[in-house]
Amino acid sequence: MDFLKDRLDEQIAAGRYRQLHPVAERGGDRLDFSSNDYLALSVHPEVVAAGLEALTRYGAGVGAARLMSGDLQLFHDLEEEVASLKECQAALVFGSGYLANIGIIPALVGRGDTVLTDRLDHASIYDGCRLSGARMLRFRHNDPTHLEEFLSKCQGSGRMLVVVESLYSMDGDIAPLTELVELKERYSCLLMVDEAHATGLYGRRGGGLVQEHGLAERVDVVIGTFGKGLGSYGAYVAGSQILRDYLINRARSFIYSTGLPPAVIGASLAAVRLVQREPELRRRLAENVEYFKECLTGEGMSGSPGPSQIIPIRVGDSERALSLADECRREGLFVTAVRPPTVPEGSARIRLSVTLHHKRTALARAAGQLVSACRKLGIRASF
Ligand code: PMP
Repeated sequence: MDFLKDRLDEQIAAGRYRQLHPVAERGGDRLDFSSNDYLALSVHPEVVAAGLEALTRYGAGVGAARLMSGDLQLFHDLEEEVASLKECQAALVFGSGYLANIGIIPALVGRGDTVLTDRLDHASIYDGCRLSGARMLRFRHNDPTHLEEFLSKCQGSGRMLVVVESLYSMDGDIAPLTELVELKERYSCLLMVDEAHATGLYGRRGGGLVQEHGLAERVDVVIGTFGKGLGSYGAYVAGSQILRDYLINRARSFIYSTGLPPAVIGASLAAVRLVQREPELRRRLAENVEYFKECLTGEGMSGSPGPSQIIPIRVGDSERALSLADECRREGLFVTAVRPPTVPEGSARIRLSVTLHHKRTALARAAGQLVSACRKLGIRASF
C-alpha cells in the first residue's frame, strides 16, 4: 500500500491536498460563504417539521430499493410536486445529484454514440459520460459555436447527447440556454440540463433557469438536486412520462440503490411546495447578492455585476487560493479554495456563495474581511 503515501505526497507537492474541516455547530459567529443552502431552507421550520413528521411516521429508512419494497407513496407525492415545480409531465427521484448523473447519462447513450459536454461541467457529469462508453467531446465553456463545430462533424454517427449546467457551480455564470436549444433542434440531438444550483432560485415557480427562459418543453432531460437551494438531500430528473418510465427501467443508480430516507423525502417535499408558494425567497436572495457585490466594490475590489448568487474571487494559483482561504478562516470567514482539477489549471479561486443565512451586517463585514485578507497577502483579486 506504499502507493497511497506516494500519491498523497504528490498531491501535497502540487498544492492539491484536500482536508476536512469539521463544523462543530451551525450558526454562531462563523460566517459561512461555502454553503449551497442558498435559501436557508435547511433550517426553515416547515421543512424541518415535515422531515420530522416523515421520520416519526415511516421510520429512519425505507429498507430497500424502490423497485423492491422501498417505494413509499411519499416518493410519488414528491415527484408530482417536482413535476409541478418544473412544469413538465413527470419526475423521478434519485439518491443524489451524483447518482442521477452517473445513472441517467449511461441510460441515454452508449458505445457508438457521442456525448458532448461543456468543459466546466461538474465531475458527476464527466463520470456519467465515462461510464456510458460513448465518445466524449468537450466544447469550450459556454461556447455554442464550438459545440456546433462538433455537432456538424458527428451527425449521422449514433445518438448525440449534449449535457450542460444551467448555472455553473464554480463560475456562477449561466449557459446560453436558448442557443443550445436551437442547436439541439437543428441537429436533432438530445439536450440534458443540470439545474443543481438554479433549482428553487429562478423561474416564475422557482423551477430554475430553463423555466426562466421559457424552455421547459424544449429540453429533453432536466436534473436538479434537493441538497442545495432546497435545503435537503437527493436529486430529481424531470421531463416526459416516457423518460420517467424508461429511467425506472434503465438507470442503474436508480434500480440498484436504496430509496432515500423518509425524513429526507418529507423535507424535500415541504421545500418544493415552499419555493412555489413564496417567490419572496428568490427576491430576497437577489437583493442580498446585489448588496454584497456593492460592498465588495465599495471596499475597492473590481468585478462584474455577474448574474448569480455564486461569486468566484479569482486568484490564479493554488497556493495563493489556499493561503487566502486560510487567512479568511482565521478571521472567522468560512470560504473554500477551489483548485484544479475541480477548475482549469491557473484559475484557482475562492468560491463564495451568498445565501439567506446572511444578514446585511454580515455581508458588509465579510466583504471588508475578504478585501483586507487579500491586501495582507498581496493578492490582487477580482470577482
Ligand atoms: N451537479 C452539479 C452541477 C453539482 O454542482 C453537484 C454538487 N456539487 C452535483 C451535480 C452533485 O449533486 P449531489 O451533491 O446531490 O450529489
